[in-house]
Amino acid sequence: MKGRVIFYHTAREMEKKLVKIAIWGFGAMGSGMAKMILKKDGFDIVGVSDVYDGFVGKSIFEILNVKNTQKHDVLVEKNIERILDEENPDLVLLATDSFTRKAFDKIKFIVEHKCNVISTAEEMAYPYAKEPELSKEMNRLAKENGVSILGTGVNPGMMMDLLAICISGVMEDVEDMEISRINSLSPFGPTVMEEQGVGLSLKEFNYKLERDEISGHVGFVESTYMIAEALGLDVIDFEQSMSPIVTNVDRKSPYGFAKAGDVAGVDMRSFAKLSNNTKINMIHPQQIEPELEGTNTGDYIKIKGSPAINLSNAPEVDGGIGTIAICVNMIPHVINAKPGLKTMIDLPVPRAIMGDVRNLIDEE
Ligand code: NAD
Repeated sequence: MKGRVIFYHTAREMEKKLVKIAIWGFGAMGSGMAKMILKKDGFDIVGVSDVYDGFVGKSIFEILNVKNTQKHDVLVEKNIERILDEENPDLVLLATDSFTRKAFDKIKFIVEHKCNVISTAEEMAYPYAKEPELSKEMNRLAKENGVSILGTGVNPGMMMDLLAICISGVMEDVEDMEISRINSLSPFGPTVMEEQGVGLSLKEFNYKLERDEISGHVGFVESTYMIAEALGLDVIDFEQSMSPIVTNVDRKSPYGFAKAGDVAGVDMRSFAKLSNNTKINMIHPQQIEPELEGTNTGDYIKIKGSPAINLSNAPEVDGGIGTIAICVNMIPHVINAKPGLKTMIDLPVPRAIMGDVRNLIDEE
């Protein structure tokens, strides 16, 4: 009986075409997604684009140092246009930006080629919060072209928003929330190091902070608005703060370095009041190599209400693997979705793809 079931699945998969994926941005996240996809059944990476000269023209298998398990090679291209024109990907994983305004033209270009998009841009996790007009336009473009757009990641996208939203499903009444993520920035690439001020002297950090050149964690606004929408409430008040985390020892990660006395990351906090007076407080100190000074990472969600919730996960969900995995795992849901701009609360519950991805794609 068991053998017959396996045979049935294999035969069914053979009939279905591979799910064609293009990756735009082959940094820490984009390349990690490629590695994960290559280990799964039913995918085909049809193109990769990155502007980094060290990658352009090279095989992704050489860059990743993995065996080519596909039927063809994939060379990194500077320009995505040929990939979108000729390879017809079902979905593009876009891992180049943090801000909706910067990602917008790329998303528009992808959508106009009738491809679905998953973006790692933090603001795209809930773009309605800061960019309502661009969000309307993305929604319109997606519907017009019959595809869907999703922004997601480990945070925003899961650990400080969707997880709290999901657990509220077993609550009769939700009062104040305190959501903490004490995490390591070590898995992330140069974009994140620069945005968090990793490696700057305190003087340089403060100079840049005054000029709004350090973004710190991008996502409190998005997470807060996503939670408010999910609970059917409005955000009445929102503020956030950022302070440097200065290291007492030299710290080195794959893409970052902070010498003793310099900045290893940022301690971010946010405070929000919702329309029924519910408060949402977020606590998010993030730095490279936190363990070097005795900081233990972890994810914690405390919600007052009925029943009270006290979730705890330590060490933290790895930010790199978490982002890579949630983007890949959401691929079938985005392909199956009704066209439009989506957030994580619009789509089915994320889950790991352990079988052939083709079995998760709706037939019609
Ligand atoms: P990274 O710096 O390692 O990689 C970015 C890559 O994109 C680089 O290789 C760069 O050359 C390429 N690139 C930039 N602009 C391009 C363009 N116009 N065309 C082609 N390639 C281009 O960064 P990363 O760690 O991979 O992260 C990518 C983005 O995702 C960052 O902005 C980061 O903040 C965001 N992110 C979000 C989450 C989340 O939880 N929501 C988690 C991780 C990363």
